[in-house]
Amino acid sequence: MLKTMNKETKDHEIIWNKCLQIIKDNVPSVSFRTWFEPIIPVKLKDNILTIQVPSPFFYEYLEEQYIDLLKKILRKELGQDAKLEYNVVIENNAFSSQPYTVRFPTRSKTDLKNKPLAVPMDKDEISVRNPFIIPGLKKLHVDPQLNPEYSFANFVEGNCNRLARSAGYAVSQKPGKTAFNPLFVYGDSGLGKTHLAQAIGIEVKEKFPELTVLYVTANRFQTQFIESIRNNTRNDFLHFYQMIDVLIVDDVHEFAGKEKTQDIFFHVFNHLHQSGKQLILTSDKAPVELQGLEQRLLSRFKWGLSTDLQSPEFETRMAILKKKVYNDGIEMSDEILEYIATYISTNIRELEGALISLLAQSTLNKKEITLDLARKMIDKLIKNTHKELSIDYIQKVVCDYFGIPIDLVLSKTRKREIVQARQVAMFFSKSLTKSSLTTIGSRIGGKDHATVLHACKTVNNLIETDKQFRLQIEEIEKKLKT
Ligand code: ADP
Ligand code: MG
Repeated sequence: MLKTMNKETKDHEIIWNKCLQIIKDNVPSVSFRTWFEPIIPVKLKDNILTIQVPSPFFYEYLEEQYIDLLKKILRKELGQDAKLEYNVVIENNAFSSQPYTVRFPTRSKTDLKNKPLAVPMDKDEISVRNPFIIPGLKKLHVDPQLNPEYSFANFVEGNCNRLARSAGYAVSQKPGKTAFNPLFVYGDSGLGKTHLAQAIGIEVKEKFPELTVLYVTANRFQTQFIESIRNNTRNDFLHFYQMIDVLIVDDVHEFAGKEKTQDIFFHVFNHLHQSGKQLILTSDKAPVELQGLEQRLLSRFKWGLSTDLQSPEFETRMAILKKKVYNDGIEMSDEILEYIATYISTNIRELEGALISLLAQSTLNKKEITLDLARKMIDKLIKNTHKELSIDYIQKVVCDYFGIPIDLVLSKTRKREIVQARQVAMFFSKSLTKSSLTTIGSRIGGKDHATVLHACKTVNNLIETDKQFRLQIEEIEKKLKT
């Protein structure tokens, strides 16, 4: 029902009533009752009419369906510079339920459809308050921030990643509808967490183009959040994140010690999880080992599936190198690839890095890529990339010193001189790196921690009893430390 006028009626009410009269003649009566009667005119100032709408969805619907009509009518009533502001009532979810304001016509209806919704990704962007970052605007396009290179097709499967990969793939086929929510992927740096998380996003986008997918690093999430506090747009921030269907947050360990960010992320998490939306999180540690994160967040991280990525075994390293070489249209002999895959074993990023440096070297010096060039380059690389000594480097120096091929040391061979080289490598790995006995064992010939402990004792005994051996150890140590 239209309001009856009386003396008290304010300008905004008069204008809105006039608008309603026209709207009524232009829309079906059901629509009028549903979409226009609930609107409350709030104020009229500087030719800006403010109306209050009961929900973000309501606002979305008006903008989608009636923006042209509203614009025409308002201009007719107030002139060409007429503007409409919405106060959107947001239901209380732990934040104030005060309405927040959206202004039009900053964009026309067609603009709304075609232009990507500005994601507050950069500082510059976020400082401009974007009124369209509100929930419900699913038809608008959010740039998912995905790198097409990080697809499943480019993700080589191996024992080191099989479970994580298949869980990730399952999630991408039924986002929010598997038991893997959140999917929590953890592992050391350079093992493919970002790649896998992005692959899920890419796959979802391909299979369900209508879903809103967003990849964001924990750091970026935090920066945006801090900016939103500074600009007084925290509600916009929260509601933007709450409208995502598949949210990928990379490196959540970065939230450690940042309580306010954890707090808002907690709300985003709850909202999405409750609405059956998919969360994919990555971290450098398992939830149980994460420090500096609130218990209530950690417990939620464990709701779905936690799965880790491990260092790739030799076959997977080879497969990754071959794929990379193939994708880039480069030719390189297996011998050289094997050499790289043998010596760079910790980290896939470094594996790729080695390949790239090798290519760069050969291009710059116009030299063919030979095994010799690869050797020289890798020697340098292993040394330079590890300010701290790495197990890889120690193994290599020890093997070079004794003149034993590294693959024999890594094999199961129990030949005396090889066992001894292996023990020496273990000994130095223990004394010169921070790696645990288990890690050292698994990296040097797939042994357990007891074997490493035994090796350290044996080497120490020999140093005390065998002068010749002690000299050798001293020489190796010198090589390792230069
Ligand atoms: P993380 O996020 O765990 O530090 P990334 O996902 O950034 O590691 O991976 C480092 C590099 O290794 C990337 O270039 C990535 O494409 C590559 N990579 C990681 N895992 C694989 C894999 N299974 N197959 C192919 N490339 C991989
Ligand atoms: Mg990463």
